[in-house]
Amino acid sequence: MQPAGLHVLDEIGAGDRIRALGAVIERLFGRVTPSQSVVLDVRYDAFGRDAPTGVAVHRGALFQVLYDAAREAGAEIVAGREIVGASDGRFAFATGEQSPRFDLLIDALGVRSPLSEAPKANLPYGALWASLDWQAGFDPHALEQRYEAARKMAGVLPIGTLPGKQNQQAAFFWSLRGKDEAAWRAASIDAWKSQVLALWPETHGFLDQIERHDDLVFARYAHRTCASPLSQHVVHAGDSWHCTSPQLGQGANMALLDALALATALGSQSNLDAALGEYERMRLWHIRLYQTASFLFTPAYQSESTLIAGLRDWLMSPLSRVPPAPQILAGLVAGAWGSPLNALASVKRR
Ligand SMILES: Cc1cc2nc3c(=O)[nH]c(=O)nc-3n(C[C@H](O)[C@H](O)[C@H](O)COP(=O)(O)OP(=O)(O)OC[C@H]3O[C@@H](n4cnc5c(N)ncnc54)[C@H](O)[C@@H]3O)c2cc1C
Repeated sequence: MQPAGLHVLDEIGAGDRIRALGAVIERLFGRVTPSQSVVLDVRYDAFGRDAPTGVAVHRGALFQVLYDAAREAGAEIVAGREIVGASDGRFAFATGEQSPRFDLLIDALGVRSPLSEAPKANLPYGALWASLDWQAGFDPHALEQRYEAARKMAGVLPIGTLPGKQNQQAAFFWSLRGKDEAAWRAASIDAWKSQVLALWPETHGFLDQIERHDDLVFARYAHRTCASPLSQHVVHAGDSWHCTSPQLGQGANMALLDALALATALGSQSNLDAALGEYERMRLWHIRLYQTASFLFTPAYQSESTLIAGLRDWLMSPLSRVPPAPQILAGLVAGAWGSPLNALASVKRR
């Protein structure tokens, strides 16, 4: 969660609950092997010592906090329904039943939403992910990564605790091409662990917690930006409107900003069409900016290209330390490029 997304959670009274569960992230840090040179070093405090930081949370913690906030706000939640279509103000369910009729249907069904345009293709690289018990020796306030060119990448992100639990956890991830998933499954898990240890020996405490392939989830990434959030029957929010690789860590942030923008637009206009137009205007440029940045940055960390990895190491990395680059990069990571909150505030003030 970046500061912009935390602001949205504060607006619905859920920010402190997330902060209590999550881990404060002050820095994004990465070294390339074998040189061990630092090629990623973004610090939130490039804006000053009191600059807001990120907070990393388990996906389940974010879900629970949002679920509780929705219930407390009076939302009626009907679970266990698979949506397969929408028309005339009603959702169509896989069972053949339909929902009651609503004035507005909001599609927040994520990257594979059946109500949105399908992404043209998955990105070549995805990643193996696991939530594991935290290990001493790692920075509890940093996302740390190790790379070999851009072909290999391992990462450790502290993610705090799940609601009702005490143990501190980390998200551990390993970059993997979609077309290599079957070969990874066919090989022994120890062969894979040897590769990870060769890149980052200190991760042995995390790897000891992984016994079989199914202890890891393979996440495929896709990139899509629908030209508009408005389809014939629904309004899209979050990944169903725009999805990308998680390299910049913005997806949850963007989904929350969409939700706040939609609520703000609906609250500021009595005409539904005018409100939806306002929603699109508030979000469009921020989304385009971040979708473009993510599209451009992703190959620097996940690609076959030796040239792009070389440019990252020999050009981008040294330049990123020359002012004002540290502030610009901190703003990018914080979700602040394009001032998304100003766009919302200007509508609220009217
Ligand atoms: C591996 C990985 C790592 C990521 N890391 C980060 C990160 O560090 N920071 C960040 O900000 N973002 C990250 N993201 C992106 C982030 O998870 C998404 O951008 C964000 O969850 C989008 O929110 P959403 O509400 O639009 O969709 P989702 O969170 O995907 O929610 C969609 C919901 O709809 C439900 N659903 C889907 N289809 C149907 C259906 N047909 N019927 C009924 N229900 C349905 C799903 O079960 C789910 O509950 C990551 C994504 C991945 C895959």
